[in-house]
Amino acid sequence: MFNQTTITISSMKGVKTLYLSSFSKNVIKLFVAITLLIYPAFGLYVSYSNETFSRLSSTLNDTLNNGHELYETSEQLLADKEELYTDLTEKELEVAELKEQVEIAEAERTILASKDASEEAAKALEAQRNRIISYMLANIPNGKPINSNISSGYGDRIHPVTGTKKMHRGTDFFANVGTEVFASADGIITEVRPSNRGSGNFLRIAHAYGFNSSYSHLKSFKVKKGDFVAKGDLIALTGNSGLTSGPHLHYEVRYANRDQNPKRFIDWNEENFDDIKTIEGIPWLSIFGQVEKQLK
Ligand SMILES: [Zn+2]
Repeated sequence: MFNQTTITISSMKGVKTLYLSSFSKNVIKLFVAITLLIYPAFGLYVSYSNETFSRLSSTLNDTLNNGHELYETSEQLLADKEELYTDLTEKELEVAELKEQVEIAEAERTILASKDASEEAAKALEAQRNRIISYMLANIPNGKPINSNISSGYGDRIHPVTGTKKMHRGTDFFANVGTEVFASADGIITEVRPSNRGSGNFLRIAHAYGFNSSYSHLKSFKVKKGDFVAKGDLIALTGNSGLTSGPHLHYEVRYANRDQNPKRFIDWNEENFDDIKTIEGIPWLSIFGQVEKQLK
């Protein structure tokens, strides 16, 4: 009995008594000892595990954070790339626009240059035409040779003195005796012929290109044969010499010694300059061609 331990358990059903042998007691002691030994170790293990876990967790967190940061960085990089791409596209558009503006400016410059050139050409052409007009109106009879009106025209008529039908080869101007007569174009005095018959005192000027003009029934001459006269120079005074019904100036224009209607030349001026070419029998084309060649 000495090495036995008695355990008594009371309950409503009665009292139970357990007898523990020495072996059993030792088993229990060992169990308790083992438990007491294991518990701190387990505690240590748990503590260690917690630490490890927390370390792992922190590492994981760090990793996650890093991952997140990396994600954000890559997102930012993508956004930057997008922005750069947009900037690049804008720059490219700007460059294209500038290029277009440069091309437009160049085209405008070319147009202006050609416009200038054509304006210059037109001006040169107009200047050349003006030179031709001035030259021809100086050299071929035009305008009135006297400051007076026409009294009788060119063509068939009844002669005022003889009363017979006769071709009138010139144009007559009203003129009191002594009225000034002027050269109708530049030329050389080829005839100065005093007379009391027919044309009376008569004067002829030879002009360029085969034209000549003559002035009849004069009172007196202001030039002599061989003189050079310019258009508008005073050459004579009107009279009543020769076969006349009264004082007047008889004016003729000839081309290659063929009489022309002087009225066409009297009416010729700067404004209707080209109309002269409609007079038939005169080689205007070659005359104008020659003048153009001379004035180049
Ligand atoms: Zn006449």
